[in-house]
Amino acid sequence: MWAERTSHISLSGIREMFALTKPDAINLGLGQPDFDTPAHIKEAAKEALDAGYTGYTPNKGFPELIDAIARYYEQYGIQAGQEQIICTSGGSEALHLAFEALVNPGDEVILPDPGFVAYSPLTRVAGGVPVSARVKADDDFRLQASTVADCITAKTKVLVINSPANPTGAVQRYDEIRGFVELAEDHDFYIISDEVYDKILYDGEHVSPGGIDADRVIVVNAVSKTYAMTGWRLGYAIAPAAIVEEMLKVHQYIQACAPSISQKAAYAALTGPQESVRSMVEEFRTRRSAVMEHLKEIAECVTPEGAFYVFPRFALSETSLDFTKKLAQAGVIVVPGSAFGRFGEGHIRISYAASQQTIDRAFRIIKEQVSA
Ligand code: PLP
Repeated sequence: MWAERTSHISLSGIREMFALTKPDAINLGLGQPDFDTPAHIKEAAKEALDAGYTGYTPNKGFPELIDAIARYYEQYGIQAGQEQIICTSGGSEALHLAFEALVNPGDEVILPDPGFVAYSPLTRVAGGVPVSARVKADDDFRLQASTVADCITAKTKVLVINSPANPTGAVQRYDEIRGFVELAEDHDFYIISDEVYDKILYDGEHVSPGGIDADRVIVVNAVSKTYAMTGWRLGYAIAPAAIVEEMLKVHQYIQACAPSISQKAAYAALTGPQESVRSMVEEFRTRRSAVMEHLKEIAECVTPEGAFYVFPRFALSETSLDFTKKLAQAGVIVVPGSAFGRFGEGHIRISYAASQQTIDRAFRIIKEQVSA
C-alpha cells in the first residue's frame, strides 16, 4: 500500500525512547542545548517580524545571510561564493538535499557506525545502500582512513563524516580528514561533512575537508546547536556550484525557502557577539568532567572532545535497548547505542545538555540500576 522507500525505514530510536518518558523522568536523551537562544538573536527576529519579513525569501536564502555564512567558513579555509551556498530548514534538510543530489539507486554510501541516526534512512530514501564503517573505542571513536578504504567498492558514491561526532563526541584530526579527501580524489566519490558541532569543541581544532578540496565536499552546518536555535530550523550547505544547483531543485519544490524570520535571526547569530557560544561551551566542559567522574565507577568511556554527548560501554547482560528501557522506568531517559548503528550495541548515549544538579540526580539512579 505504501511506497517501499518509506516502509524500509523506521522511526528514530531516539523518538522511541521519548515515547517511554514519564512526566517526571530526567531526560538525558536530548540532542539540543538546554540554553535559551541568546537575547540579541531573539531581538533580531522580533525586529524582522516588525519590519515585515514575513514572506517568501529567495530560494537559496537572503544574500546577506549567504555572505555571512561564506565569511564564517573562511576560518576553515573555504572561500565560497553566493552560488556555492544554500540555506535550508535545519542541517537535516541540508543533509537530505545532499543525498538527493548525489546518490543514485544502488550507489553505496559509507557511514560512520555508530553515527548520527539520520544518515542511514536518508541514504535509503535516496535509493542508496548504507555501508557501515566502524568507529572503534580503541581509536577514541575517530573514523580511520584504513577503515574507509576497506569499505570502498566501484559503487561507492559518498562518504559521510561528522566531526565533532554524534553520538561519540569524537573529533577527527587534520591528517585523518586529509586521508579521507585523498581517498575521495583517488576513488572518485564525494564527502558529505556534517559540521553542526563545529564550535562545541573542548580540545583540538575543527577541520573541514572543504578547506582541503572544496570540489569533493558538501559541508552541512546549522545554527541549531552553536546558538541554541534547534527550533528555528536554519541550516545550510556549502558545495560546488553545480551540486548546489541540483540541491536547489529539490529544495525549491519541497521547501521553497528556509524560514524568513529564522534567516534574519541566523544572520544576527553569525555576525553578532560570540560570547554566549564561549560561555555555553565552558559550561558543557564543566559538565563533561562531572559526567566522566560519575562514569569512572560504572562503565568504560572515551573522553569526548566535542559535542555534548558521552558514549559509555556498560558490561550488560541485556541489550542496550532493554537497559535503557529499565533506566526509563527508573526515571532516566538515555538513548540505546544500537539506535546509532549495529556497532553501537553495548553502549548508551548520555547527553549532558542538562544542569549539573540534574546530571547528579540522574547518575544516582543510573548507578542504582547498574548495581541492581
Ligand atoms: N547532524 C547531526 C550530527 C546532529 O546531531 C543533528 C541533530 O541532532 C543534525 C545534523 C540535525 O540538525 P538540525 O537540527 O539543524 O536539523
